[in-house]
Amino acid sequence: MKYNFWFVVGSQDLYGEEVLKIVAERAEEMAAKMSESLPYPLVYKVTAMSNAQITNIIKEANFDDSCAGIITWCHTFSPSKMWINGLVNLQKPYCHLATQYNKEIPNDEIDMDFMNLNQAAHGDREHGFIGARLRLPRKVIAGYWKEPNTLVRLGKWMRSAIGVAISKSMKVMRFGDNMREVAVTEGDKVEVQTKLGWQVNTWAVGDLTAEMSRVTEDEIDSLMAEYSTLYEINTTDLNAVRYQAREEIAMKKMLEREGCMAFSNTFQDLYGMEQLPGLASQHLMYQGYGYGGEGDWKVSAMTAIMKAMGEGGNGASAFMEDYTYHLAEGAEYSLGAHMLEVCPSIADPAVKPRIETHHLGIGMNEKDPARLVFEGREGDAIVVSLIDMGGRLRLIVQDIVCVKPIMPMPNLPVARVMWKAMPNLTEGVECWITAGGAHHTVLSYDVSAEQMRDWARMMDIEFVHITKDTTVEALEKELFINDLAWKLK
Ligand code: MN
Repeated sequence: MKYNFWFVVGSQDLYGEEVLKIVAERAEEMAAKMSESLPYPLVYKVTAMSNAQITNIIKEANFDDSCAGIITWCHTFSPSKMWINGLVNLQKPYCHLATQYNKEIPNDEIDMDFMNLNQAAHGDREHGFIGARLRLPRKVIAGYWKEPNTLVRLGKWMRSAIGVAISKSMKVMRFGDNMREVAVTEGDKVEVQTKLGWQVNTWAVGDLTAEMSRVTEDEIDSLMAEYSTLYEINTTDLNAVRYQAREEIAMKKMLEREGCMAFSNTFQDLYGMEQLPGLASQHLMYQGYGYGGEGDWKVSAMTAIMKAMGEGGNGASAFMEDYTYHLAEGAEYSLGAHMLEVCPSIADPAVKPRIETHHLGIGMNEKDPARLVFEGREGDAIVVSLIDMGGRLRLIVQDIVCVKPIMPMPNLPVARVMWKAMPNLTEGVECWITAGGAHHTVLSYDVSAEQMRDWARMMDIEFVHITKDTTVEALEKELFINDLAWKLK
């Protein structure tokens, strides 16, 4: 799907035809110019002056699958009662851009004609009121339309809105159920489909092994060639690598056939398979598919959505698990990894990930599974967890700073990432546990906490953010108030 956004401009006819003509021309110019710097096209649609025009354009937006959201702006003083009938039915993400055509107040030129034409400060406040009065989930961005920071923020919001579109069409393929007895990976699939649009369904592992048996040696040869260009093959057990290629090809065929962008599996259900998919899952994630281990379909869908929200529609976001801590005073770090499946999109780009084979004691692996081993890159990132609170969903985001792992850990046979959690390791852990965050997360370098907040607002779910300034006491109060608020909603 090629997505675009619609630029819907408000005006009124008080100042005559000439003013309206100028407003429309400028709006068109602005949309075209801004599109040059935005990740998705901003298409000028209308300079609206009536209830009917706005109602019609919103009906069109609702039913056009390629429209991922509307961006509004009120060039002149645009009365907002005419927006009510349209906005109450809006089903697409909504951003109010508070800007103006002129950057500066022109000293000599400014007179009452200039004021009438350029009173966006006036119009945007009127428009803001109706957004607040209708309790609409909107994003407000203020800034000059040519200013790089304004365009960056608008672009990031667009990516969050793309996350909404992807969410609403998300299909998750589950191979096997959740890991037995685990609570946090459970959830209400009907609630999730109602709220987020996800279609979460199961396919038998037997269907997958049947599909695997139909994969040809030629198909495996060509995927092996791809592996060898992207990765360093650091094992002599090429049959194990070829087996992973067979698993990947079969899973991808099934995912494509069913239109699924995410999948989960569990080491407790590998019936008929020699190896838990490691490299296979990692290389599928590299291509943009979401994955969750131990049947965790929530983290799988979130991984796919956050990948799609990232740079180029497939950003540096990965399924992650908090494994263990380094609790040395003054050098406290979290170590994240998984038994196999960490996405190479987050690898240090200077070093090729290595394909290795090692024994895996968990699950019924007859053979040593091949997997990619690498270190995650340095940089600011977030970890994200979606949990089911019973009656509502909570999205928890924590700011982290990833570092080069402080030790080589030569006997750790999996990809690893090391980070400092905010506000610090122990308080960060206390906050995370207080909020109920899972051990599984999506770790992302190019989706920001603000983008996840925007996404949560658009999806109408609870959002909790653990930052450098968060304290357990403040967080407990926030969660208590949230609990009350969400009971009333
Ligand atoms: Mn796990």
